[in-house]
Amino acid sequence: MTAKIIDGKAIAADLRGKVADAVHRLSRDRGITPGLAVVLVGNNPASESYVASKMKMTAGSGMRSFDHRLPKETSEAELLALIGRLNADPSVHGILVQLPLPAQINPHKIIAAVDPAKDVDGFSPVNAGRVAAGLPALAPCTPVACILLAKTVQPSLMGLETVVIGRSNIVGKPLAQLLLAENATVTVAHSKTHELPAVCRRADVLFAAVGRPEMVRRDWVKRGATVIDIGVNRVMADGRSRIVGDVAFAEVAEIAGAITPVPGGVGPMTIACLLANTVRAACALAGLREPAFGQRPIDDRE
Ligand code: NDP
Repeated sequence: MTAKIIDGKAIAADLRGKVADAVHRLSRDRGITPGLAVVLVGNNPASESYVASKMKMTAGSGMRSFDHRLPKETSEAELLALIGRLNADPSVHGILVQLPLPAQINPHKIIAAVDPAKDVDGFSPVNAGRVAAGLPALAPCTPVACILLAKTVQPSLMGLETVVIGRSNIVGKPLAQLLLAENATVTVAHSKTHELPAVCRRADVLFAAVGRPEMVRRDWVKRGATVIDIGVNRVMADGRSRIVGDVAFAEVAEIAGAITPVPGGVGPMTIACLLANTVRAACALAGLREPAFGQRPIDDRE
């Protein structure tokens, strides 16, 4: 193995430490304790486990965490009413609605109902639009996490060839916009892209957000490239279930310059970015200068 392993766990722990310091200062100097409300509808096991770790990390950084568990039969109107109450609650600075939602609820309607100033997931049309326009925003956590991890090995992405595989609204598209804001040259590939391996081989920094276990092989990667693996795929191997990424880690690590592992890469950093967004939101709501945590301040509304 030649690639440097980008230790997402350690980098996330460092960011969480900075978040905890900021939370401590905010509550000591301003009497504000940032609060994150997490809403989970139904009992999807993966969602329950994501929510549990988000809430544990929130409390661990000194913030308040508000847990809203609703039965799977919850109607869209009931969920909208809860979002309305959270929007109006001054002790709540961030609102996260865990996706996916049950079929009777339109996720677009719910996401659009979250106050953009509390939309710490960065999924609302307002924040998506601000990211697309290159304006400061509460940007989606996973794409921000990817950029911060890539910058630990490539401090400037300016002019680099970057390839993003995947064009979802929550990962691929906002990641491409954030890379443009970093002055990278950006190609977005997807299921209809021709000659995908050749497209990927152009990348100085390759991002895989597909949801296909170990799709990216060694011969898709330029020697020395940085590879950021966003995929989370549960597979069975030797009768046991385990998580793998979208990149064939062992073989790609032989050619890449740096690579994120799965688990232990983008996942923990995504949660750290969620905590950072909650502190940024709390500061912006109070009209205070916010710690940037590697991002552009959102109180600098243009
Ligand atoms: P989506 O299913 O919404 O999007 C997948 C994208 O991959 C689509 O744009 C699709 O193309 C593209 N794609 C599918 N098959 C191929 C293929 N054979 N070749 C090229 N492109 C292909 O997934 P998400 O963006 O929500 O998530 C992607 C992965 O990232 C998943 O594994 C998910 O679990 C993980 N994830 C991890 C997070 C973390 O915190 N670590 C957070 C969020 C997601 P098309 O548009 O043409 O259909």
